[in-house]
Amino acid sequence: MSEPILRVRDLRVEYETPSGPAQAVEDVSFDLAPGEFLAVVGESGCGKSTLLFAIAQLLTYPARLAGGAVLFEGVDFTSLRPEELRARRWRDISVVMQSAMNALNPTLTIGAQLADACRAHTEWPDERIKERSAEVLAMVAIDAVHLKSYPFQLSGGMRQRALIAMALLLEPKLVLMDEPTSALDVVAQRSLMKQVATLRQSLGFAVIFVTHDMSVVAHHSDRLAVMYAGEIVELGPTGEVFHRPEHPYAKGLMEAFPSLRGELQPLLGIAGNPPSLVNPPAGCLFAARCSFANDQCRTVHPELVDYGDRAVRCHLVAESRA
Ligand code: SF4
Repeated sequence: MSEPILRVRDLRVEYETPSGPAQAVEDVSFDLAPGEFLAVVGESGCGKSTLLFAIAQLLTYPARLAGGAVLFEGVDFTSLRPEELRARRWRDISVVMQSAMNALNPTLTIGAQLADACRAHTEWPDERIKERSAEVLAMVAIDAVHLKSYPFQLSGGMRQRALIAMALLLEPKLVLMDEPTSALDVVAQRSLMKQVATLRQSLGFAVIFVTHDMSVVAHHSDRLAVMYAGEIVELGPTGEVFHRPEHPYAKGLMEAFPSLRGELQPLLGIAGNPPSLVNPPAGCLFAARCSFANDQCRTVHPELVDYGDRAVRCHLVAESRA
């Protein structure tokens, strides 16, 4: 891997709850290469969106950073003051939120919102702002005529593309995407993903893309991180993890995903529920749902072990690879 653009180290996020702190993200570490597309998948509540917000330093109460570092080009974002962070967001790292309807201001035109973002982060004159706004809209196949449109006048797919245009305004090196396709139909999802892939290729930005829907990222991501109960349980090249998962939870997740090719296979779910994150069990967090669990699994917490091409958090995998 070339020199990473982002290094996430031992990141921990807690949520304050009436019963005590819940560990939403626990001990997450990974590197991201320039221009790389990393997909983070897992079921609802596994901590994937919280991880994204922690990287962007956008956590709000009741979530709080409990430890770790987010090093972007060597600068630890967790140690920056709010005004230093504001200056770096959009320029270095931008975020595309899940719901364009919530992220866009319904009372302002798309042009006014793009201009606001430009004015907050640059000294550009009005002419340059107009020019750049039309440029980024064109990148996501939206006609400049829609600079005068309000969000409600655009389709769901166009609104989401307008958000991506906004994220690309200042040519960031990393774009964080929080389930940007979840509110779209399958055709709009496909077209949005193709556009993201084309833009990434031409502009060279890296992407961390969070989703619960594997089909969205199967063809576009370079690496896949599978999260369970706040931890990364498997991380590796997308094709490898997708077709030959090693962690029992990752296997279950892939078996719950329908294949478009080959024989029709029954879809298998994963019985049971994730553990309490307020009082997590001592051993493997997946033990109560894992058909391979033994005494060691129930008592000793497995580490994420790096096997070169793949990292897996499982005692059984560690034994079989020894
Ligand atoms: Fe299953 Fe044990 Fe591996 Fe956990 S460590 S996933 S319980 S085999």
